[in-house]
Formats: sequence, structure tokens, C-alpha cells
Amino acid sequence: AGADAEQELTDGFHLVIDALKLNGIETIYGVPGIPITDLGRMAQAEGLRVISFRHEQHAGNAAAIAGFLTKKPGICLTVSAPGFLNGLTALANATTNCFPMILISGSSEREIVDLQQGDYEEMDQLAIAKPLCKAAFRVLHAEDIGIGVARAIRAAVSGRPGGVYLDLPAKLFSQVVDAEKGAKSLVKVIDPAPAQLPSPASITRALDVLKGAKRPLIILGKGAAYAQADDEIRSFIETSGIPFLPMSMAKGLLPDNHELSAGAARSTVLKDSDVVLLVGARLNWLLSHGKGKTWGDAPKQFIQIDIEPKEMDSNVEIVAPVVGDIGSCISALLDGVKAGWTAPPSEWIETIKARKDVNIAKMSQRLLKNSTPMDFHSALGALKQVIKERPDAILVNEGANTLDLARGVIDMYQPRKRLDVGTWGVMGIGMGFAIAAAVETGKPVLAVEGDSAFGFSGMEVETICRYNLPVCVVIFNNNGIYRGLDTDPTGRDPGTTVFVKNSRYDLMMEAFGGVGVNVTTPDELKRAVDEAMNSGKPTLINAVIDPAAGSESGNIGSLNPQSVVKKK
Ligand code: ADP
Ligand code: MG
Repeated sequence: AGADAEQELTDGFHLVIDALKLNGIETIYGVPGIPITDLGRMAQAEGLRVISFRHEQHAGNAAAIAGFLTKKPGICLTVSAPGFLNGLTALANATTNCFPMILISGSSEREIVDLQQGDYEEMDQLAIAKPLCKAAFRVLHAEDIGIGVARAIRAAVSGRPGGVYLDLPAKLFSQVVDAEKGAKSLVKVIDPAPAQLPSPASITRALDVLKGAKRPLIILGKGAAYAQADDEIRSFIETSGIPFLPMSMAKGLLPDNHELSAGAARSTVLKDSDVVLLVGARLNWLLSHGKGKTWGDAPKQFIQIDIEPKEMDSNVEIVAPVVGDIGSCISALLDGVKAGWTAPPSEWIETIKARKDVNIAKMSQRLLKNSTPMDFHSALGALKQVIKERPDAILVNEGANTLDLARGVIDMYQPRKRLDVGTWGVMGIGMGFAIAAAVETGKPVLAVEGDSAFGFSGMEVETICRYNLPVCVVIFNNNGIYRGLDTDPTGRDPGTTVFVKNSRYDLMMEAFGGVGVNVTTPDELKRAVDEAMNSGKPTLINAVIDPAAGSESGNIGSLNPQSVVKKK
């Protein structure tokens, strides 16, 4: 009878795992430690994939991008206080980027934390997380785990997606509950991200404005990529004949070599368009807030599709707000276009095409050099070819010049294949994104990293090797941040933006059994990447770039404040 009674019990550990599994969660990204070590072990034993990282920020970034790729919340599991704080950076970044993720952190004893009596890793984590994410919950009783997990999932993926914090105190895990009662307490979230239909009036209004346009433009943002309404979006653009401009993570939603792509004529279309339809793109700093020199003097009308009503009029007046999910909104607009439509004036299309041709020709000159040392363009010329030949590979990209130039040079051909620094322009997403991209999609991943950007997550190459993931990291090594030339005017130390000269990052990979290659020409680079992508072996290629190549802060140097009293 004793044994029978035991079998009828469950506990907090198992209820967390059962709740995640019931809701279709397949993978946990995290770093083990007190009090969640056994939770990770048990989750693995129960068939969840548990990917253990070296630092929580990268596990968090992995969870965030898993959320972006799958529309299911990515799960990051951390220990209390410091581990939680490390994960919190990724949670805040996910929220900023509208990626659904759940940061689950173990925490110390509430009674001691609240009286500030100095517990192991004492911290009021719930209060700290709250302002940095979309929602934050704590579960104190094992019978509430089902509800807690359900709330976290719904909060992460419904409406504008974002990060959710779930606080699980150490004591919760070992709380014992009758198994049947426990099972009944679990909640399978029904329709976690319900379609949100736009009002018919908002569609009519938007169509009226669009029909009046002489020089219309569609801007696709990463919200459009996230929405997975790829066919509707393509059909709307091709049926209406309106040129489109992809934001960086929306590249590939339609191929960059599509005849209606205005990517290579960006400054022209932003200036000269008269009606702009924003689809899952915010008018934040990345679009110069919808005003100023970038947008020219001609009067401009904005139509905006977004699931978040508060986004409307955030920077400039939106004459036709369309609030709803992108799939539903675009379908409704497409119906309207099919019911009666005149293609945009051919002059507009011709102007864009002429500008594109000039810019593409100018660029292709710079990509062809096969010289040593490489500059950013000659190295990127080789990588552009790699993605052209392997359009289903995933490109992860971070850095300053490495990011800005790769975004322009490397064409994308399929949706959600380009993952990068996002809304904050943050450094450190590289290895976390690369790992989750490989885990979630099974596709080969090419991570193109500045040497500085790589440093933020570089230790995770061990994780890549440990899980034997098909990730090829290319480091554009120009000996430093922006460039490799700074010196200390006093002669005491290295300059503030330089690293050890001629570092061999490839040797790091070899330390963990991966493949390391050092290359100095575009041909060598292309060959090494091809080999890595063919073999699927974890590979790190140290691509030697001229230390004089690159500019301060890449394309956004103007954001640096200038001192007017710089000492000589
Ligand atoms: P980008 O940086 O590519 O311009 P942003 O991150 O600024 O893109 O904008 C993405 C926008 O997409 C956010 O305002 C978000 O609310 C919106 N969004 C995300 N998912 C959806 C969806 N399924 N339907 C409608 N809007 C969405
Ligand atoms: Mg550099």
C-alpha cells in the first residue's frame, strides 16, 4: 500500500515539466545550478530537449529567437539572483523586439527575501523583472503551476508578443501534490494568439489612401516576418504592384532580387514616396522616426498595420491605422485590391529601377576584389555567394561595419533566414541566436560576426561543439572595435578600441573539437564556408580583415555625441 500511495503523488518539478509539455514546449535553453539543476535533468529525462549554455544571457537570446522563429514562447531557465539578472538582459531585449519568450528563474525563500534577512542569492526578482517585460508572475503553490505556466504562455504570444517572467521559488519544486489533482490542475492554453481582425472601416480607409498614391511604398518589418503570413504578403505586393522595402529581419519575406524590391534604392524611396504602408515595422530610430532629412520634404501619408493599437501615432500622424494581426489585415487589403485596383504609375517604378541598377552596379565592383588583406566588401562578396547558393541556410549577423555592410550586401531569398541585432542594435546575440536557429530549424547556420561582437558570446562555441550543431561562425577580424588602429595617447596601454593584434579565434574552436580555419582571401573564405556548410561540423573561420577597414560605429556614427572641448 505504501508503494501505491507513492505512485499517486507528483511534485512541483514534475508539474512544471508536464505543464510545458502539455503546451507543446519542446526545448528549454538554460544554465543549471541551485535550485533548478534537477528540473533540467528531469525535463531531459521526460523527453524535453535541454540545451545547457555557459552564460544565461545567451540561453535567453536563444529562447527569444526560438520564439521569433516558431511563434511559440522560447523558454529560458536560470538560477536565482545573478543567473536571473543575466537572463533578464535577454528578456528585456526580447520584449523590445516583440519576441515571445518566458524566463523561468528559480528564486530564494520568500519569507527571508521579503524580510531581507540575507538568503543565498537573495533578490526580489519579481519586482525587478516587472518593468522590463510584458508580464511577470510568481507561483507559490504547486497546484497553481498549471495556471502560472498558462498565463505566461498566453501573455508571451497574444497581442504584441514579448517577454514574460515566471518566478519559481526553490520550495515550490519539492511540494508534493496528489497526482490526479496535479494532472487536473494543468491547463492547455486554447488559441493562445487569437486572430485579431481589423475593422472593415480601417481597411476601407487604408485602401482609399493607397488608391490616391502616386508613389506608394510598403515597408516590411520583422513583425511581418514573425506573423508567418508569407503567402498573403507576397500576393498583396505582387497583385498591387507596390514596391517594398524590407527592414533587416524582414529581408527574404520576398526575395531581395524581386523586381518590386526597393532595397537597393532605400534613400530614394524613403524621400520620394508619397504614401507609405508600414507592415509590422515601427517608426523608431531605425526609420528616423518617420521624419527629417531621410524622409524628404514632399508631404507624406502613413498607413500602419500593427497588432498594438498604442503603436499608432507614436512618432508621426498615421492617417490610416489598421489594428489587427498581419495575416488578417493583409488578407483584407488583398481582397480590396482584387476588387478594383490601378497599378502605381510606371514612372515611379522606373525611377526606382534606375536607382537600383546604379547602386547595384556600384556595389558589385567592390565585391569582386580577391586581395589581401581583405576589406569588408571583398569578404562579404564571398559570403553573398554562399547564401545565394544555399538560400535555406540561416544567417546570423552582428557587429558594427560587419552588420551594416552585410545587411546591404548579402541578399536573402526566404523568410526568417536573417537574424540580427534587432531594435536595440545590441551586441551579444550571436552565438545564442545561432544555437537556437540550428536547434529549432535543423538548417545550417552561418554566423557572420565582427571580432568585437563575437566576444560577447564567444564562450558558447563550446556549447556549439558539445551539441554538435551545424553552425559556421565567420569572424571578421580587424583587430578591434570599429577598426584596429587606436593608440593610447599617453603611450601607457593599448588604445581603448583595439584587441590583441592578429588573434586566432579559430584556435578557440579547435580547443573544443570543432574545426578552425584561418583565411586571408575571399577565395579561401568561400572554400572554408562551403566545406563547413557541407559537412555540418561546428566550424569557426578567422577571416583576417584590414585593421584600417571599417568606420567608427558603422552606419550610425552620427549617434556618437561629440565633445566641443576635446583636449589636444
Ligand atoms: P523592424 O525593426 O523590423 O522595423 P519592429 O520590431 O520595429 O520591426 O516592429 C515590429 C512590429 O510588428 C511591432 O510594432 C509589433 O507590435 C508588430 N507585430 C508583431 N507581430 C505582429 C502580428 N502578428 N500582427 C501584427 N503586428 C505584429
Ligand atoms: Mg572589428
